[in-house]
Amino acid sequence: MTGGGVWDAVVAGAGPAGSVAARELARRGHSVLVLEEHHEVGRPVQCAGLVTRRVFDAVPAPECVQNSLTGGELLAPTGRSITLRAPVEKAVVIDRARFDRRAAEMAIDAGARLELGTRVIGVSGHEGGEPAVVEVSSRGGRRSLRARVVVGADGVQSSVGRSAGLQPPGELLPGFEAGLCGVEGPGDTVRILVGREVAPGFFAWLIPSGEGRAVLGLCCEPGPVPAREYLGRLLGNPLLSPYIRRARVTGYCCGSVPVSPVRRSVSGRVALLGDAAGQVKPISGGGVFTATRCALACAGAASAAIGAGGRRLSLDAYERGWRAELGRELRFGRRLRRAFVNVTDRQMDELVRMLDRPALLALISARGDLDFPSKLAKLLFRQAPGLLKFSGAFIKSLF
Ligand SMILES: Cc1cc2nc3c(=O)[nH]c(=O)nc-3n(C[C@H](O)[C@H](O)[C@H](O)COP(=O)(O)OP(=O)(O)OC[C@H]3O[C@@H](n4cnc5c(N)ncnc54)[C@H](O)[C@@H]3O)c2cc1C
Repeated sequence: MTGGGVWDAVVAGAGPAGSVAARELARRGHSVLVLEEHHEVGRPVQCAGLVTRRVFDAVPAPECVQNSLTGGELLAPTGRSITLRAPVEKAVVIDRARFDRRAAEMAIDAGARLELGTRVIGVSGHEGGEPAVVEVSSRGGRRSLRARVVVGADGVQSSVGRSAGLQPPGELLPGFEAGLCGVEGPGDTVRILVGREVAPGFFAWLIPSGEGRAVLGLCCEPGPVPAREYLGRLLGNPLLSPYIRRARVTGYCCGSVPVSPVRRSVSGRVALLGDAAGQVKPISGGGVFTATRCALACAGAASAAIGAGGRRLSLDAYERGWRAELGRELRFGRRLRRAFVNVTDRQMDELVRMLDRPALLALISARGDLDFPSKLAKLLFRQAPGLLKFSGAFIKSLF
């Protein structure tokens, strides 16, 4: 802590976003305190662990890889399917708890202090010329801290964002997952199921995590049927039976995925990051890559703002930075997702049939990129303009 009991940065949340931002700020010589409400980093896990190796650019921890994936199968509601097989690795499955722990250790090694079991209640005074006041609670009771910058990396329900008057992400999709063991079938292929009865508004997944284990899960639009019930149906889904008929559930987890970024991620001395800012890929629901990328932008801008001194501190460079890097991709993804939400099961079946052409399958296998799906979508629409009939007016207007 610097003079006068003021931290350069207080980071709420020791998920990947918070730990990477904390590490980068500490590396630049700033005093950084990370507050995590749980007593252990990385638990509970709310993730299937499917990422690309790009996440190791921000958190160099390849030892967290549990499985390598080269194949994918898309299963339409009728059972019609397409199978993709790439000559190279397309994604990996990581042990998310271990990954989060490594990210936190790296922050500590860089000089950040981590306090577990401490919950951030809210922030005030963040718009003035004085350091912000961060109200926290832990077993020892309540206390206030002061910080030049507050990073709200405290997930979808961000207390920092709420107290700073920032609007939360507009659209949250509930998700539910089961860890399975005793799973059969190829261990290098992820299976995606679509359809109104399976996962309305999104999709379900069976992701092999190695040694006969897998994560079976889904996200869906909020509605009268809870995500948990859809998961129950998935466990009995005949399309999955060849793989999971002998499987046993080892645990459940649930969470929400924010699929639309916040309108503003900055207010005075406060910056929202990761899920708190809705920095998640809307088509896949993946947020580890985007959160860690934005954390690098956040730390750079926050460090410059702290270093500039002066009473009026501006984090606008962060807002501009992450939107310049990922804004277009997230916007395109969001609009494409919205368009496909209205596709009926029959149309989905037709869509899968249309994709089932050697040239298109080769294109998807070669150019599919989990982190930047818009590139493939644009190529597909160009090669098979018939697909445009499923998309919304915005997407059509691009072609
Ligand atoms: C079911 C499901 C499956 C998913 N699967 C994938 C996947 O396969 N691949 C992928 O890339 N993404 C996946 N995601 C998304 C991914 O998990 C998130 O986008 C990612 O964790 C975001 O990182 P974060 O650091 O912003 O937030 P989080 O990882 O949520 O971390 C936030 C941290 O803040 C802490 N916290 C919360 N409130 C407070 C508070 N008030 N005070 C102090 N600490 C607080 C929390 O305990 C937590 O440790 C999935 C999400 C769900 C729900």
